Amino acid sequence: MQFRLKHVGLLTLLFALLFTLGACASNKETGTSTLDQIKQRDKLIAGVKYDTRLFGYKDPNTGQVEGFDVDIAKALAKKILGDENKIELKEVTSSTRIPMLKNGDIDIIIATMTITDERKQEIDFSDVYYHAGQSLLVHKDSPIKGIDDLAGKKVIGVKGSTSVKNIREKAPQADVLEYPDYAQAFAALRSNKGDALTTDNVILMGMHQEDPNYVLVGGLFTDEPYGIGIRKGDETFVNYVNDFLKELKDSGEYRELYMKWFNEEPPANQ
Ligand code: GLU
Repeated sequence: MQFRLKHVGLLTLLFALLFTLGACASNKETGTSTLDQIKQRDKLIAGVKYDTRLFGYKDPNTGQVEGFDVDIAKALAKKILGDENKIELKEVTSSTRIPMLKNGDIDIIIATMTITDERKQEIDFSDVYYHAGQSLLVHKDSPIKGIDDLAGKKVIGVKGSTSVKNIREKAPQADVLEYPDYAQAFAALRSNKGDALTTDNVILMGMHQEDPNYVLVGGLFTDEPYGIGIRKGDETFVNYVNDFLKELKDSGEYRELYMKWFNEEPPANQ
């Protein structure tokens, strides 16, 4: 009796161990792609911004989340599942998007995310789907005209963005204030908590549209190629998403979306 109980105990332990190992395994180790998981679930779970006009923005009046990134996510849901509504959008910020992808909360990140070598250590990226560049937003009466005027000034940025890292390098004399998201960052600029806000030109453009008293200055001082973030080691899904982006461009749908959100033709390199 005692002998059998010991065996049952050992077996349970073995199963528990196998189960834990299975749960920890990455896509690469198990051989299953996120693509299979999406098909099984019959729904794509996309991490998008809720506070970034033109890319991913939750309209407080309608409750709808919309933007260029959101439309790309819907087009991907349509390609995978035949219906753009088979999608669940989850809010990510610049600092939550990579952890949320890694722990399986979302299938992909489509959220104004620059492809960088540092981020490539943690996740994989699709091909570039948008080219942005970092700039500055200031009140229209501000004396600040570019990065050379930032010494001793308070510059607002968002935690987890490339923008705060870059500005520390480009304007080491500036005092950088980090906020959790772009809504709070812009609110801080408007209530004079800082002298300038820095991030990608297109994000600043959305803020300028919201309040034309704030204007872009200083041109572009970095290159920010946006990619779709995918869990590491899932070559199947990376290839699938790259094919999808190519089809989107070849079919003219990319151009349509670009015109819809940015009111201009996409440049030749997009
Ligand atoms: N594209 C930059 C980045 O990936 C800034 C925009 C953002 O914070 O999402 O960090």
